[in-house]
Amino acid sequence: MTKIAVLKESASGETRVAASPETVKKFIALGASVAVEKGAGLAASISDADYEAVGATVGAASAVIKDAAIVLGVQGPDPKALKGVAKGAWIVAGLDPFGQRKRVDDYAAAGVEALAMEFMPRITRAQSMDILSSQSNLSGYKAVIDSAAAYGRAFPMMMTAAGTITAAKAFIMGVGVAGLQAIATARRLGAVVSATDVRSATKEQIESLGAKPIFVENVAGIEGEGAGGYATEMSPEYQKAQAELVSSHIAKQDIVITTALIPGRAAPRLITDMQIASMKPGSVIFDLAVAQGGNVEGSKPDEVVVKHGVKIIGYSNTPAHLAADASALFARNLFNFLSAFWDKEAGRPVLPDDDEITAAIRLTKDGKVVNERLLG
Ligand code: NAD
Repeated sequence: MTKIAVLKESASGETRVAASPETVKKFIALGASVAVEKGAGLAASISDADYEAVGATVGAASAVIKDAAIVLGVQGPDPKALKGVAKGAWIVAGLDPFGQRKRVDDYAAAGVEALAMEFMPRITRAQSMDILSSQSNLSGYKAVIDSAAAYGRAFPMMMTAAGTITAAKAFIMGVGVAGLQAIATARRLGAVVSATDVRSATKEQIESLGAKPIFVENVAGIEGEGAGGYATEMSPEYQKAQAELVSSHIAKQDIVITTALIPGRAAPRLITDMQIASMKPGSVIFDLAVAQGGNVEGSKPDEVVVKHGVKIIGYSNTPAHLAADASALFARNLFNFLSAFWDKEAGRPVLPDDDEITAAIRLTKDGKVVNERLLG
């Protein structure tokens, strides 16, 4: 019987867990056994008893790991913690392959097959397995909610007997998965919302959510979606035009949410100190890219930085602030992936070598690093 291990996350500040009672139940229905480390779900409001109730065994890490063929994680487990796993065991998690390059080598040396879920290709078939989408969506929501909490004013327009409160103006920079959810959330709270991106395909999406697109007009951005929906670094000419556009717009904004990322690179700098200085005191900026270097000058992970009277917020791990929902969706992403490749006869998932998904996510196999993006 294929044994699936679920470890308690070891990274500091990580509150999520890689399996939920729902997905444990489904794995067992497929014919696997599931072992969960004691306390693995507590920070996500899932008790050991909840896992036991659906048929998992709960125990110490060493017992959970022993002979496991698949180890599930939110973040990559410490290679040292894998002693005793089955030969060639799969490690299925968000492995931060560029940031934790040395750990990938250690996985290879340990003889395990590391599968990086954030490298899932952006193809229709893999949408339900995409941890970046499921987690970014919640992050976009949380950024707006926590900005609203830090803002000393209200979001919606209110007409009261004591007078009228004007609606907050929110500006969303970067309209991927997180940005779209940020637009929707800010609109629901009653803000007047505008948004920008480098990909022209987002213009229509912004309008369809009832927000105003703010785009560089005189220099071409990225036509359509961009490769796999991802942006690249922009030309100096574009960056200059974008900076001018932002300068003229941002001074009138109360809330700014930045979400811009470029895969495998530091986040692009979108807001300078001078632009912050042009904003009204009491305004709030939430930098969702702070852990990747930050879109905003001076932002610091997990700190509220006040500059020129403007609060700058950003978390090193935003989904960890919504542990229960983030875990539920993350767990489903992992289940959707493993069940799609489940081979009934083998009683376990099998990844065909010639599958696009295999090639994208497989980092190590047979003692070697095999992923093109890491070798290239
Ligand atoms: P992301 O997290 O990599 O980046 C966030 C946003 O920042 C992107 O929209 C990007 O264009 C933007 N950005 C980058 N540099 C910028 C700059 N200098 N200025 C302004 N904006 C900048 O992107 P994401 O949220 O992961 O997704 C991007 C796209 O991919 C979306 O259109 C999404 O719908 C698509 N997508 C498709 C699939 C699929 O088909 N399976 C899955 C996930 C996402």
